[in-house]
Amino acid sequence: MSDAVPQQILVVDDDPTARILMQASLQQAGFVVQVAADAQEALQLFHGASFDLVMSDVEMPGMDGFELCARLRAESDVPVPVVMVTGMDDLASIDRAFEVGATDFLPKPINWSLLGHRVRYILRASAAMSELRRANASNRAILDAIPDLLFEMDLDGLYLEFHSAEPMPVAWTPEHVVGRRVSDVLPGPAAAAVMGALRSAATTGRVHGVQYEIPVPKGSRWFELSAARKEGDPGQTPRFVVLARDITERKSAERQIEELAYVDTLTGLPNRLSFLQRLEREIVRAGFLGNRLAVLFLDMDGFKNINDTLGHTVGDLALQTIGTRLREGVRPTDVVSRLSNDEPELRLARLGGDEFTVLVPRVSSSEAVMQLAERIRDLMTRPFVLEGREVVLTTSIGIALYPEDGNSADALLKHADTAMYHAKEEGRDNCKFYNVSLTQRATQQLNLASNLRLALERGEFRLAYQPQLDVASGTIRSVEALIRWTHPEHGVISPMDFVPAAERSGLIVGIGEWVLRTACADAVRWRDAGHPLRVGVNLSARQLRNAGILESVRDLMAAGIAPELLELEVTESVLMEDSHATLTLLRELRATGVSLSLDDFGTGYSSMSYLRQLPIHRIKIDQSFVQGLPGDAESLVIVRAIVGLARSFGFGLTAEGVETLEQARLLRELGCDSMQGYYFSRPVPAEEIPGLLAQRWPQILEPAG
Ligand code: C2E
Ligand code: CA
Ligand code: CA
Repeated sequence: MSDAVPQQILVVDDDPTARILMQASLQQAGFVVQVAADAQEALQLFHGASFDLVMSDVEMPGMDGFELCARLRAESDVPVPVVMVTGMDDLASIDRAFEVGATDFLPKPINWSLLGHRVRYILRASAAMSELRRANASNRAILDAIPDLLFEMDLDGLYLEFHSAEPMPVAWTPEHVVGRRVSDVLPGPAAAAVMGALRSAATTGRVHGVQYEIPVPKGSRWFELSAARKEGDPGQTPRFVVLARDITERKSAERQIEELAYVDTLTGLPNRLSFLQRLEREIVRAGFLGNRLAVLFLDMDGFKNINDTLGHTVGDLALQTIGTRLREGVRPTDVVSRLSNDEPELRLARLGGDEFTVLVPRVSSSEAVMQLAERIRDLMTRPFVLEGREVVLTTSIGIALYPEDGNSADALLKHADTAMYHAKEEGRDNCKFYNVSLTQRATQQLNLASNLRLALERGEFRLAYQPQLDVASGTIRSVEALIRWTHPEHGVISPMDFVPAAERSGLIVGIGEWVLRTACADAVRWRDAGHPLRVGVNLSARQLRNAGILESVRDLMAAGIAPELLELEVTESVLMEDSHATLTLLRELRATGVSLSLDDFGTGYSSMSYLRQLPIHRIKIDQSFVQGLPGDAESLVIVRAIVGLARSFGFGLTAEGVETLEQARLLRELGCDSMQGYYFSRPVPAEEIPGLLAQRWPQILEPAG
């Protein structure tokens, strides 16, 4: 399989958004993509061309994805990989997908930046799979014609006759073998396997499928034997006919798949690939459930010394011991229970060399993660006995947390790695969080909930406002309200840190109410001073789960706030929780006349059928896509696709996180009608807003570089 020839992918989805985004990001990853809007069209395309992979949505009107997959399997003898795109955690549909012959499944929401890698991986794994199939088929064909080895033995394993179909090494020629015992001819474990087979054949008449390995100069050869008792005269010593087939090729293909897919052969732990895949899935899950997760990156201090002074064999032994210790040391019973009660297991992996990782799928607090890391460190400082010598190894551990330190598997791993280096710098045998301030956060978090309760009463919150440029007029027409918390002892705490905690404890409802009222009061003040500005207020999931928000908004309107002054921002993930009730609430909110915008767009479900129903006015492109501009081609395709979508629905489009002039020019050219970001202004106190209103940015009107 060569990467030089572009591989063809058929994408099947009835939802145009999903199609466009999928096509854009796969093309970006170097694939040739054709799209089909339903299963019928897909079948036609499929039979008219040769595809390397089919990617199909499950739910489609008419023929659904399962049926399509089954048809593809039935109507073609070439086993083209079929990937089903399923809803998150929809176990039934995952099972069903495998039942109808799907190769793999991709959970929604799709992580666009990883899609290309994922698809490339699936293609590689399935190439290895067909190699295995081919090897199996050819083995069968050859062996059906002639067995590789055919011999007769008595119950003691004495060779009575010996034939080989192809030339064998001298040690296995009839002259050499006949008259000797198997235990003198084959190495111990292989001889034992043959003897075991003879004994069962003696009692049951015949035996199949016993495998054994014979080391040869270059690696080893594998055989699979069948033995049958030969009918002879009663009273004669029993004789056995043994057929041994060379299955070396099949074995190596099998092993290759195992290695490729999951396992680090030295330690038996999952490998890097397996870890990244798993992490990616856990990130999706955590994002969906609003959880945090942690990645611990372990690196043995001075491991190179062991290899250099004691040799690689001892080094390997040490790594195996580390693997075993980790496995035993972070057993779910004694650690996870402390993190929380009903948690999925921690995942261990060896990335390569002396680097290991631990994935904590759900994190209750940074404190708990720190405790786990300390525990692992203790575990590792116990002396290792290597070839009779005691060796003490220490470990440096870096920790990255989702979502604060990154929202992709690659980013989290990279950041955990960075933190590990940081730990090494600070004198080894150390644990460090990715962000230094997070270490302080770990302690702060302890009292977060009770502190939040007090913060409202004590008036520790305030709002910062970030201007949004209206591209057409070149002026600021709106601002986004962003909450700030200054704790009397800990200082400024980021909303990224406390909003999730406020959500979990339900305090967000009261806090959100305060934000809404304060933002509206500021809007009124600005309007009265002759600056009519629309204020955007972020709503959290929790706030949309009860109707209190609707009442508050209605009250505010009744009190004389013009609805044009208020915009509510909700995220896609919020909408997924209970789409029906939420949709109803959003429609009612819209009926009050306020504007609605969809925040962080592109990170969630992005389903067109869903978008169509949403009573929103505007989409805000998530910062992560803007950050990569102008250099990152992948971000560019995605932004283009989102612009196309927004146009077709008549939504306004705001780009968030614009930091450079280049980005601003490009986004204007692409068609964003509004922009927000440090390039224009950081979030500032309400008093500073009027002073910013006279500012203009004519330079963004020039063509992008
Ligand atoms: P968000 O709604 O996506 O808000 C935009 C965030 O991006 C803000 O972070 C803002 O300061 C930051 N930002 C703006 N321009 C740039 C830029 O050019 N570069 C970079 N790197 N960042 C930029 P902030 O204020 O830390 O808020 C973080 C998140 O906390 C918000 O993300 C929002 O989800 C949440 N949040 C903030 N205030 C509230 C609130 O009153 N209620 C609720 N429920 N959530 C809030
Ligand atoms: Ca926002
Ligand atoms: Ca946002």
